[in-house]
Amino acid sequence: MPDGLKADFPSAAHIIADRIDREGPIPLGDYMAIANDHYYASKDPFGEEGDFVTAPEISQMFGEIIGIWLADLWLRQGSPDHCHYVELGPGRGTLAKDALRSMRKFGCNPSVHFVETSPVLKAKQAQLHPDAIWHDDMSSLPEDGPLLMVANEFFDALPIEQFIATSAGWRRQMVARDRSKFVAVPSEEVAEERVGSSMSGFPEDTILERSPVSVEVMGHIASRIAKQGGTMLIIDYGYAKPGTGSTLQAVKDHMPVSPFDSPGSSDLTAHVDFHTLANIARTRMLKIHGPAEQGQWLKSLGIDQRAEALIAASPKETDTVLAALQRLTHVDEMGRLFRVMAATAIDWPEPEGFSYGEE
Ligand code: SAH
Repeated sequence: MPDGLKADFPSAAHIIADRIDREGPIPLGDYMAIANDHYYASKDPFGEEGDFVTAPEISQMFGEIIGIWLADLWLRQGSPDHCHYVELGPGRGTLAKDALRSMRKFGCNPSVHFVETSPVLKAKQAQLHPDAIWHDDMSSLPEDGPLLMVANEFFDALPIEQFIATSAGWRRQMVARDRSKFVAVPSEEVAEERVGSSMSGFPEDTILERSPVSVEVMGHIASRIAKQGGTMLIIDYGYAKPGTGSTLQAVKDHMPVSPFDSPGSSDLTAHVDFHTLANIARTRMLKIHGPAEQGQWLKSLGIDQRAEALIAASPKETDTVLAALQRLTHVDEMGRLFRVMAATAIDWPEPEGFSYGEE
Protein backbone atom coordinates (compact mmCIF):
# COMPACT_ATOMS: atom_id res chain seq x y z
CA MET A 1 0.00 0.00 0.00
CA PRO A 2 1.34 3.53 -0.69
CA ASP A 3 2.71 5.03 2.54
CA GLY A 4 0.71 8.22 2.12
CA LEU A 5 -2.50 6.23 2.33
CA LYS A 6 -1.37 4.44 5.50
CA ALA A 7 -0.46 7.69 7.22
CA ASP A 8 -3.63 9.55 6.28
CA PHE A 9 -6.25 6.88 6.89
CA PRO A 10 -7.73 6.27 10.33
CA SER A 11 -7.20 2.81 11.75
CA ALA A 12 -10.29 1.02 10.37
CA ALA A 13 -9.29 2.09 6.86
CA HIS A 14 -5.80 0.80 7.61
CA ILE A 15 -7.03 -2.63 8.59
CA ILE A 16 -9.40 -2.84 5.64
CA ALA A 17 -6.78 -1.69 3.14
CA ASP A 18 -4.25 -4.17 4.52
CA ARG A 19 -6.72 -7.02 4.24
CA ILE A 20 -7.67 -6.11 0.68
CA ASP A 21 -3.98 -5.93 -0.24
CA ARG A 22 -3.44 -9.42 1.16
CA GLU A 23 -6.68 -11.18 0.15
CA GLY A 24 -8.21 -9.13 -2.65
CA PRO A 25 -11.71 -7.59 -2.37
CA ILE A 26 -13.52 -8.35 0.92
CA PRO A 27 -17.28 -8.89 1.43
CA LEU A 28 -19.29 -5.76 2.21
CA GLY A 29 -20.36 -7.29 5.55
CA ASP A 30 -16.73 -7.61 6.67
CA TYR A 31 -16.08 -4.01 5.64
CA MET A 32 -19.12 -2.81 7.62
CA ALA A 33 -18.22 -4.89 10.69
CA ILE A 34 -14.66 -3.54 10.87
CA ALA A 35 -15.81 0.03 10.21
CA ASN A 36 -18.53 0.00 12.89
CA ASP A 37 -16.40 -1.80 15.47
CA HIS A 38 -13.87 0.99 15.19
CA TYR A 39 -16.48 3.68 15.00
CA TYR A 40 -18.27 2.73 18.23
CA ALA A 41 -15.03 1.78 20.00
CA SER A 42 -13.50 5.17 19.37
CA LYS A 43 -16.16 7.65 20.42
CA ASP A 44 -19.52 8.58 21.89
CA PRO A 45 -21.32 9.42 18.63
CA PHE A 46 -24.63 10.65 20.08
CA GLY A 47 -26.17 14.09 20.49
CA GLU A 48 -26.00 17.44 18.74
CA GLU A 49 -22.18 17.53 19.06
CA GLY A 50 -21.86 13.94 17.81
CA ASP A 51 -22.91 12.40 14.52
CA PHE A 52 -26.56 11.51 15.15
CA VAL A 53 -29.34 11.77 17.74
CA THR A 54 -31.34 8.73 18.87
CA ALA A 55 -34.85 8.74 20.36
CA PRO A 56 -33.82 8.21 24.03
CA GLU A 57 -31.47 11.20 23.74
CA ILE A 58 -34.33 13.39 22.49
CA SER A 59 -36.53 12.97 25.54
CA GLN A 60 -36.97 10.93 28.73
CA MET A 61 -40.52 10.20 27.50
CA PHE A 62 -39.23 7.61 25.04
CA GLY A 63 -37.56 5.36 27.64
CA GLU A 64 -40.37 5.93 30.12
CA ILE A 65 -43.00 4.67 27.69
CA ILE A 66 -40.87 1.59 26.96
CA GLY A 67 -40.54 0.99 30.71
CA ILE A 68 -44.31 1.24 31.17
CA TRP A 69 -44.84 -1.16 28.26
CA LEU A 70 -42.47 -3.72 29.81
CA ALA A 71 -43.87 -3.29 33.34
CA ASP A 72 -47.43 -3.72 32.06
CA LEU A 73 -46.55 -7.04 30.39
CA TRP A 74 -44.68 -8.22 33.48
CA LEU A 75 -47.60 -7.31 35.79
CA ARG A 76 -50.15 -9.10 33.59
CA GLN A 77 -47.87 -12.15 33.52
CA GLY A 78 -48.21 -12.30 37.31
CA SER A 79 -45.03 -10.36 38.28
CA PRO A 80 -42.53 -13.22 37.89
CA ASP A 81 -39.42 -13.14 40.13
CA HIS A 82 -35.88 -13.11 38.77
CA CYS A 83 -36.64 -11.06 35.69
CA HIS A 84 -33.80 -9.63 33.64
CA TYR A 85 -33.81 -6.34 31.77
CA VAL A 86 -31.56 -6.87 28.75
CA GLU A 87 -30.66 -4.08 26.38
CA LEU A 88 -28.73 -4.63 23.16
CA GLY A 89 -26.41 -1.76 22.22
CA PRO A 90 -27.56 0.61 25.00
CA GLY A 91 -25.54 3.63 23.78
CA ARG A 92 -25.16 6.03 26.70
CA GLY A 93 -27.54 4.01 28.89
CA THR A 94 -30.19 6.73 28.74
CA LEU A 95 -33.07 4.54 27.57
CA ALA A 96 -32.34 2.00 30.33
CA LYS A 97 -32.26 4.74 32.96
CA ASP A 98 -35.65 6.13 31.95
CA ALA A 99 -37.22 2.70 31.40
CA LEU A 100 -36.00 1.19 34.68
CA ARG A 101 -37.18 4.25 36.64
CA SER A 102 -40.68 3.72 35.21
CA MET A 103 -40.59 -0.03 35.79
CA ARG A 104 -39.63 0.33 39.45
CA LYS A 105 -42.71 2.50 40.02
CA PHE A 106 -44.73 -0.62 39.20
CA GLY A 107 -42.64 -2.83 41.47
CA CYS A 108 -40.70 -4.34 38.58
CA ASN A 109 -37.06 -4.38 39.63
CA PRO A 110 -35.13 -6.62 37.23
CA SER A 111 -31.39 -7.24 37.17
CA VAL A 112 -29.76 -5.21 34.41
CA HIS A 113 -27.78 -6.74 31.54
CA PHE A 114 -26.19 -4.87 28.66
CA VAL A 115 -24.88 -6.43 25.46
CA GLU A 116 -22.27 -3.95 24.30
CA THR A 117 -18.95 -4.18 22.49
CA SER A 118 -17.69 -0.59 22.70
CA PRO A 119 -15.37 0.10 25.67
CA VAL A 120 -16.10 3.83 25.41
CA LEU A 121 -19.85 3.29 25.63
CA LYS A 122 -19.52 0.64 28.36
CA ALA A 123 -17.76 3.26 30.48
CA LYS A 124 -20.57 5.77 29.82
CA GLN A 125 -23.21 3.16 30.67
CA ALA A 126 -21.40 2.31 33.92
CA GLN A 127 -21.75 5.92 35.10
CA LEU A 128 -25.55 5.59 35.02
CA HIS A 129 -25.76 1.86 35.84
CA PRO A 130 -22.97 0.87 38.22
CA ASP A 131 -24.68 -2.46 39.02
CA ALA A 132 -25.27 -3.58 35.44
CA ILE A 133 -23.65 -6.71 34.03
CA TRP A 134 -22.05 -6.46 30.60
CA HIS A 135 -21.94 -9.12 27.88
CA ASP A 136 -19.98 -9.17 24.64
CA ASP A 137 -22.73 -11.23 22.99
CA MET A 138 -26.00 -13.00 23.84
CA SER A 139 -24.46 -16.34 24.83
CA SER A 140 -23.66 -15.33 28.42
CA LEU A 141 -27.07 -13.81 29.22
CA PRO A 142 -28.72 -15.32 32.34
CA GLU A 143 -30.72 -18.50 31.81
CA ASP A 144 -32.80 -18.45 34.97
CA GLY A 145 -35.75 -16.16 34.34
CA PRO A 146 -37.83 -14.20 31.85
CA LEU A 147 -35.96 -11.74 29.64
CA LEU A 148 -37.36 -8.24 29.15
CA MET A 149 -35.33 -7.20 26.13
CA VAL A 150 -35.01 -3.92 24.26
CA ALA A 151 -33.02 -2.98 21.15
CA ASN A 152 -33.29 0.58 19.89
CA GLU A 153 -31.25 1.35 16.78
CA PHE A 154 -29.18 -1.79 17.35
CA PHE A 155 -30.03 -4.03 14.40
CA ASP A 156 -29.41 -1.20 11.92
CA ALA A 157 -25.74 -1.14 13.00
CA LEU A 158 -25.20 -4.86 12.37
CA PRO A 159 -23.38 -5.76 9.14
CA ILE A 160 -25.28 -6.55 5.96
CA GLU A 161 -24.32 -8.36 2.79
CA GLN A 162 -25.52 -7.23 -0.62
CA PHE A 163 -26.09 -9.29 -3.77
CA ILE A 164 -26.36 -7.84 -7.27
CA ALA A 165 -28.29 -9.39 -10.14
CA THR A 166 -26.03 -9.75 -13.19
CA SER A 167 -26.47 -11.49 -16.53
CA ALA A 168 -24.48 -14.39 -15.02
CA GLY A 169 -26.54 -14.67 -11.82
CA TRP A 170 -26.30 -13.17 -8.32
CA ARG A 171 -22.91 -11.77 -7.38
CA ARG A 172 -21.84 -10.78 -3.91
CA GLN A 173 -21.01 -7.12 -3.27
CA MET A 174 -17.34 -6.83 -2.37
CA VAL A 175 -15.17 -3.88 -1.36
CA ALA A 176 -11.97 -3.27 -3.32
CA ARG A 177 -9.41 -0.48 -3.47
CA ASP A 178 -9.07 1.95 -6.30
CA ARG A 179 -5.79 3.66 -5.39
CA SER A 180 -6.57 5.72 -2.27
CA LYS A 181 -10.31 4.98 -2.30
CA PHE A 182 -12.56 2.07 -1.40
CA VAL A 183 -15.10 1.01 -4.01
CA ALA A 184 -17.88 -1.57 -4.26
CA VAL A 185 -17.36 -4.29 -6.88
CA PRO A 186 -19.37 -7.45 -7.64
CA SER A 187 -17.63 -10.74 -6.81
CA GLU A 188 -16.16 -12.66 -9.71
CA GLU A 189 -17.85 -15.86 -8.68
CA VAL A 190 -21.60 -16.37 -8.59
CA ALA A 191 -23.18 -16.45 -5.12
CA GLU A 192 -26.63 -17.97 -5.70
CA GLU A 193 -26.57 -20.19 -2.64
CA ARG A 194 -25.96 -17.29 -0.27
CA VAL A 195 -28.93 -15.32 -1.59
CA GLY A 196 -31.48 -18.06 -1.13
CA SER A 197 -33.53 -16.58 -3.96
CA SER A 198 -33.49 -17.39 -7.66
CA MET A 199 -32.79 -14.68 -10.23
CA SER A 200 -36.14 -15.07 -11.89
CA GLY A 201 -38.18 -11.90 -11.80
CA PHE A 202 -35.29 -9.66 -10.79
CA PRO A 203 -33.96 -7.25 -13.44
CA GLU A 204 -30.21 -6.84 -13.81
CA ASP A 205 -28.57 -4.56 -11.22
CA THR A 206 -31.22 -5.33 -8.61
CA ILE A 207 -29.66 -5.32 -5.15
CA LEU A 208 -30.81 -7.70 -2.43
CA GLU A 209 -29.68 -7.25 1.17
CA ARG A 210 -29.17 -9.94 3.78
CA SER A 211 -27.90 -9.67 7.34
CA PRO A 212 -26.62 -13.07 8.51
CA VAL A 213 -25.45 -11.49 11.79
CA SER A 214 -28.95 -10.14 12.53
CA VAL A 215 -30.41 -13.54 11.69
CA GLU A 216 -28.07 -15.22 14.16
CA VAL A 217 -28.74 -12.67 16.90
CA MET A 218 -32.51 -12.91 16.44
CA GLY A 219 -32.38 -16.70 16.39
CA HIS A 220 -30.53 -16.79 19.69
CA ILE A 221 -32.83 -14.27 21.36
CA ALA A 222 -35.95 -16.00 20.12
CA SER A 223 -34.80 -19.40 21.40
CA ARG A 224 -34.05 -17.89 24.79
CA ILE A 225 -37.42 -16.14 25.09
CA ALA A 226 -39.24 -19.27 23.95
CA LYS A 227 -37.50 -21.19 26.76
CA GLN A 228 -37.31 -18.58 29.54
CA GLY A 229 -40.34 -16.39 28.82
CA GLY A 230 -40.36 -12.67 28.25
CA THR A 231 -40.31 -10.35 25.27
CA MET A 232 -38.07 -8.58 22.83
CA LEU A 233 -38.92 -5.04 21.72
CA ILE A 234 -37.17 -3.89 18.55
CA ILE A 235 -37.29 -0.25 17.46
CA ASP A 236 -35.53 0.74 14.30
CA TYR A 237 -36.02 2.09 10.80
CA GLY A 238 -36.60 -0.63 8.32
CA TYR A 239 -39.01 -2.45 6.06
CA ALA A 240 -41.90 -4.74 6.94
CA LYS A 241 -42.11 -6.54 3.60
CA PRO A 242 -39.31 -8.05 1.52
CA GLY A 243 -37.74 -5.36 -0.67
CA THR A 244 -34.88 -4.64 -3.03
CA GLY A 245 -32.33 -1.84 -3.38
CA SER A 246 -29.39 -0.67 -1.31
CA THR A 247 -30.21 0.87 2.07
CA LEU A 248 -26.59 1.18 3.17
CA GLN A 249 -25.87 4.66 4.46
CA ALA A 250 -23.27 6.58 6.40
CA VAL A 251 -23.76 9.61 8.64
CA LYS A 252 -21.17 11.95 10.07
CA ASP A 253 -21.85 15.28 11.82
CA HIS A 254 -25.58 14.77 11.10
CA MET A 255 -24.90 14.72 7.35
CA PRO A 256 -24.98 11.82 4.88
CA VAL A 257 -21.53 10.84 3.60
CA SER A 258 -20.34 8.05 1.32
CA PRO A 259 -20.19 4.66 3.10
CA PHE A 260 -16.85 4.15 1.34
CA ASP A 261 -15.19 7.36 2.61
CA SER A 262 -13.10 7.00 5.77
CA PRO A 263 -14.61 3.81 7.25
CA GLY A 264 -14.64 3.96 11.05
CA SER A 265 -15.24 7.71 11.14
CA SER A 266 -18.94 7.66 10.18
CA ASP A 267 -21.92 5.61 11.39
CA LEU A 268 -22.71 2.88 8.86
CA THR A 269 -26.26 1.55 8.95
CA ALA A 270 -28.76 -0.35 6.83
CA HIS A 271 -32.53 -0.63 7.07
CA VAL A 272 -33.72 -3.46 9.29
CA ASP A 273 -35.50 -6.36 7.62
CA PHE A 274 -38.41 -6.76 10.06
CA HIS A 275 -39.99 -9.36 7.82
CA THR A 276 -37.07 -11.77 8.23
CA LEU A 277 -36.66 -11.06 11.98
CA ALA A 278 -40.38 -11.78 12.51
CA ASN A 279 -40.17 -15.04 10.57
CA ILE A 280 -37.22 -16.23 12.64
CA ALA A 281 -39.12 -15.51 15.86
CA ARG A 282 -42.22 -17.28 14.51
CA THR A 283 -40.23 -20.41 13.74
CA ARG A 284 -39.28 -20.46 17.46
CA MET A 285 -42.99 -20.25 18.35
CA LEU A 286 -42.92 -16.62 19.53
CA LYS A 287 -45.84 -14.29 18.84
CA ILE A 288 -45.09 -11.24 16.71
CA HIS A 289 -46.76 -7.86 17.24
CA GLY A 290 -46.31 -5.13 14.64
CA PRO A 291 -44.23 -3.70 13.16
CA ALA A 292 -46.15 -0.56 14.05
CA GLU A 293 -45.18 3.02 13.35
CA GLN A 294 -43.23 4.51 16.25
CA GLY A 295 -45.47 7.59 16.39
CA GLN A 296 -48.69 5.59 16.64
CA TRP A 297 -47.18 3.15 19.11
CA LEU A 298 -45.96 5.91 21.44
CA LYS A 299 -49.28 7.75 21.22
CA SER A 300 -51.35 4.67 21.93
CA LEU A 301 -49.22 4.11 25.03
CA GLY A 302 -49.86 7.62 26.32
CA ILE A 303 -46.92 9.79 25.28
CA ASP A 304 -49.24 12.82 24.84
CA GLN A 305 -50.44 12.49 28.43
CA ARG A 306 -46.87 12.06 29.64
CA ALA A 307 -45.91 15.26 27.81
CA GLU A 308 -48.81 17.11 29.46
CA ALA A 309 -47.70 15.89 32.89
CA LEU A 310 -44.11 17.01 32.28
CA ILE A 311 -45.33 20.42 31.13
CA ALA A 312 -47.64 20.79 34.14
CA ALA A 313 -44.74 19.95 36.46
CA SER A 314 -42.37 22.36 34.73
CA PRO A 315 -44.18 24.93 32.53
CA LYS A 316 -40.94 26.62 31.47
CA GLU A 317 -40.05 23.37 29.63
CA THR A 318 -43.20 23.54 27.47
CA ASP A 319 -41.44 24.31 24.18
CA THR A 320 -38.74 21.68 24.74
CA VAL A 321 -41.24 18.95 25.61
CA LEU A 322 -43.51 19.77 22.66
CA ALA A 323 -40.57 19.85 20.24
CA ALA A 324 -39.41 16.43 21.50
CA LEU A 325 -42.93 15.03 21.23
CA GLN A 326 -43.12 16.25 17.64
CA ARG A 327 -39.73 14.77 16.75
CA LEU A 328 -40.54 11.38 18.21
CA THR A 329 -44.06 11.02 16.86
CA HIS A 330 -44.71 13.15 13.76
CA VAL A 331 -44.99 11.26 10.47
CA ASP A 332 -42.48 13.60 8.83
CA GLU A 333 -39.94 13.10 11.60
CA MET A 334 -39.27 9.81 13.42
CA GLY A 335 -42.93 8.84 13.77
CA ARG A 336 -43.30 6.85 10.56
CA LEU A 337 -39.72 6.05 9.52
CA PHE A 338 -39.11 4.17 12.75
CA ARG A 339 -41.01 0.99 13.48
CA VAL A 340 -41.71 -0.97 16.62
CA MET A 341 -42.00 -4.75 16.69
CA ALA A 342 -42.36 -7.09 19.65
CA ALA A 343 -41.64 -10.82 19.83
CA THR A 344 -43.27 -12.36 22.89
CA ALA A 345 -43.28 -15.80 24.48
CA ILE A 346 -46.37 -17.74 23.50
CA ASP A 347 -47.72 -17.97 27.07
CA TRP A 348 -47.21 -14.27 27.79
CA PRO A 349 -50.05 -11.70 27.50
CA GLU A 350 -50.81 -9.61 24.41
CA PRO A 351 -48.64 -6.49 24.63
CA GLU A 352 -50.19 -3.01 24.47
CA GLY A 353 -49.70 -0.61 21.60
CA PHE A 354 -50.36 -2.76 18.57
CA SER A 355 -54.13 -3.07 18.57
CA TYR A 356 -54.87 -0.44 15.89
CA GLY A 357 -53.58 -2.83 13.26
CA GLU A 358 -50.33 -4.10 11.92
CA GLU A 359 -48.70 -3.12 8.66
N1 SAH B 1 -29.61 2.12 21.74
C1 SAH B 1 -28.80 3.31 21.81
C2 SAH B 1 -27.57 3.28 20.88
C3 SAH B 1 -27.78 2.95 19.42
S1 SAH B 1 -26.27 2.97 18.49
C4 SAH B 1 -29.66 4.53 21.56
O1 SAH B 1 -30.77 4.38 21.08
O2 SAH B 1 -29.20 5.64 21.84
C5 SAH B 1 -25.81 1.26 18.42
C6 SAH B 1 -25.33 0.66 19.72
O3 SAH B 1 -25.04 -0.73 19.49
C7 SAH B 1 -24.06 1.23 20.33
O4 SAH B 1 -24.16 1.16 21.73
C8 SAH B 1 -22.99 0.29 19.79
O5 SAH B 1 -21.78 0.34 20.51
C9 SAH B 1 -23.70 -1.03 19.89
N2 SAH B 1 -23.24 -2.09 19.00
C10 SAH B 1 -23.03 -2.01 17.67
N3 SAH B 1 -22.68 -3.22 17.18
C11 SAH B 1 -22.70 -4.08 18.21
C12 SAH B 1 -22.46 -5.49 18.34
N4 SAH B 1 -22.13 -6.22 17.30
N5 SAH B 1 -22.60 -6.05 19.57
C13 SAH B 1 -22.96 -5.30 20.64
N6 SAH B 1 -23.21 -3.97 20.57
C14 SAH B 1 -23.06 -3.37 19.39
